[in-house]
Amino acid sequence: PAAVDWAAVRADFPLLGRTVRGGRPLVYLDSGATSQKPNVVLEAEVDFYERRNAAVHRGAHQLAEEATEAFESARAAVASFVGADDDEIVWTSGATAALNLIAYAFSNATLGRGAPESSRFVLRPGDEIVVTEAEHHANLVPWQELCARTGAVLRWFGVGEDGRLDLTDVASVIGERTRIVAFGHVSNVTGAVAPVATLVAAARAVGAYTVLDACQSVPHLPVDLHALDVDFAAFSGHKMLGPTGVGALYGRRELLAAMPPFQTGGSMVEVVTMQTTTYAPPPQRFEAGTQMVAQAIGMGVAAQWLGELGMPAVAAHEQTLAAELLQIATIPGVRVIGPLDTTDRLAVVSFVVDGVHAHDVGQVLDDQGIAVRVGHHCAQPLHRRFGIAATARASASVYTTLDEVRAFREALAGVRAFFGAE
Ligand code: PMP
Repeated sequence: PAAVDWAAVRADFPLLGRTVRGGRPLVYLDSGATSQKPNVVLEAEVDFYERRNAAVHRGAHQLAEEATEAFESARAAVASFVGADDDEIVWTSGATAALNLIAYAFSNATLGRGAPESSRFVLRPGDEIVVTEAEHHANLVPWQELCARTGAVLRWFGVGEDGRLDLTDVASVIGERTRIVAFGHVSNVTGAVAPVATLVAAARAVGAYTVLDACQSVPHLPVDLHALDVDFAAFSGHKMLGPTGVGALYGRRELLAAMPPFQTGGSMVEVVTMQTTTYAPPPQRFEAGTQMVAQAIGMGVAAQWLGELGMPAVAAHEQTLAAELLQIATIPGVRVIGPLDTTDRLAVVSFVVDGVHAHDVGQVLDDQGIAVRVGHHCAQPLHRRFGIAATARASASVYTTLDEVRAFREALAGVRAFFGAE
């Protein structure tokens, strides 16, 4: 494949041309929280509202047909981007909603009409759900609540000093009582890539379902969900150059077919009488109510655009950025929370600066036009594990440049002196 012109890629993101803080060029290193959007995505949303806006799946008119066709093509684009079949992709409002959908399906077995094997989704007291200490709250709290509703017990893998999952004794955590193993593909704090194959094999061996939080992997790595062999996965549009308000749940076809719904109402039904209702097959069974059509179309365009760039090329480009970002570990007083080598770790780098609060680090950088995120990044247990309340985090995307990373490093090198901490 031809080499990608990364400068041209960047030029496609209008927002990146703006200045901040009195005329400084914006250095956006917060793509882990949300990515910026290329023109094709912005134009797709405007085009939908200007030319095709209609409710999908029900109108008898041309606009409704065109809207439905665009909506379903977007589903196909997202499915093909992540190695899934079209009917295995359910639109949600984001990864958080997708993860909650699965967690609620596991306590909604009474809603099984039209989902003949819904008993597979019944949890009993003493059943176990396994997560990790590195999870984003979105892949932790829904499981805690599911345990509270069903009497299931939450167990987890810890994180080692290097920020990687401690899987030294997998069999002591995943066992005969395990029903669900839910874990992040890539940590939004440490950037570490989880050993998916190891966890999937251990879960399969005991007949447990696997749930992959793919929020931080899908925008940055080639992800083939069929090849990874997970049962469910969740990811968000807004982190992969698409709009906010849309995300996707992937579910293996036969599991979605057997699974009870989460929300009920219009569009997800087959036959409704005053007493009872039968539900539509997936994915519609899980898409109650009017859908986020423009956003879904935007997410489809983002997936297609990334697919055309080529995810192997994106991953290689971002490896270079990760290596450059990790150079901050050589700055006196800077400690990176997470792996220091670029093997199985992505360009999201969290760090603390000796003697300076993360919020102060963020502010000094912001004064220079450099946008990083500070806080616990929705991963309080992981921060507690390292004995810290907050980190600052720099994260890259396709449009990030080495010059931006260097500007960030230079600014960071001056932070301790600024606070008289050295
Ligand atoms: N999981 C991970 C690893 C994330 O980084 C995020 C977003 N910060 C989420 C889940 C939740 O995604 P959303 O807020 O888009 O629902």
